[in-house]
Amino acid sequence: MDTLNHKFRAGFVAVMGRPNVGKSTLINALLGTKIAAVSPWPQTTRKRQAGILTLEEAQIILMDTPGVHQPLHKLGEHMNEEAARVLEESDLGLFIVDASQPPNEEDQLLAGLVRELAHPVPGILVLNKQDLVDPETLDDHREQYQSVLPQFEPISISATQGENIQDLIEAIASKLPENPPFYPEDQLTDTFERDIAADLIREAALMHLRAEVPHSIAVRIDEYREQNEHGAYIEATLFVERESQKAIVIGQGGSMTKKIGTYARHEIERMSGRKIFLRLRVKVRKNWRNDEKTLHLLGFQS
Ligand code: GDP
Ligand code: MG
Repeated sequence: MDTLNHKFRAGFVAVMGRPNVGKSTLINALLGTKIAAVSPWPQTTRKRQAGILTLEEAQIILMDTPGVHQPLHKLGEHMNEEAARVLEESDLGLFIVDASQPPNEEDQLLAGLVRELAHPVPGILVLNKQDLVDPETLDDHREQYQSVLPQFEPISISATQGENIQDLIEAIASKLPENPPFYPEDQLTDTFERDIAADLIREAALMHLRAEVPHSIAVRIDEYREQNEHGAYIEATLFVERESQKAIVIGQGGSMTKKIGTYARHEIERMSGRKIFLRLRVKVRKNWRNDEKTLHLLGFQS
């Protein structure tokens, strides 16, 4: 293995920018999929992950930040704090702007928030929509944006035309810390869809099982694959702590797993508005609730 010359890089990238600058379009362009835009439950996203891009030598985990507002009320203040927190916990900030216009008040506000971070984060200034302006105007606007955010390295792109997307990906990857990948390679779909599917399966188990078993159940999504625009294929494992629990969860001739699966499938279909093919397995993992590695694997620690 050539690990000396090819160090893997992985990290969390906060995607920031005022509304309409093209954040969703860019995330989709980066991921090469539509998933980020059509995620039906934006409010429930616990970890704010917008998508994961796994490359030969890097894994880029894109994080959504909440919209930044002029804090006229408590909620606005709270959201600004939340945006700052997401950014501080990231390895890199992507500051997206609309390069066809000069910076406006909201851009300034957001840039101010970045400048005032207690723990500064390196970043890239993404000048999007370059296709809408001539080169002179682009230069002029770039200078104006750079003067409000001098520490971020600028790059001009067009998310809709796919211009410079590859350069941007390389710039992002090169600025991430050396880390092994955080997620398995196949996990290209939005993680929060997986998380929600896991929650729904767990809920289905809670509905159908006797009181003592459910608290010992953890759900891991092993595969979450888009089959076409109408449906997805999901494989999941239900972990229990004891053989006796496994027998209960499987039920007579698999009847219980079938009930749980049918119920969970309906719920996931109802939430996502598309057809789901769901396959469940049951496995014993002794004492998983006290096992750091298993907890991490199951996403209880981040
Ligand atoms: P968001 O609010 O930041 O997520 O912005 P969206 O991704 O929803 O994009 C807002 C609008 O800008 C949409 O109509 C996009 O089609 C458009 N847009 C995004 N990127 C580009 C670009 O590179 N060039 C042009 N011309 N339009 C773009
Ligand atoms: Mg958007």
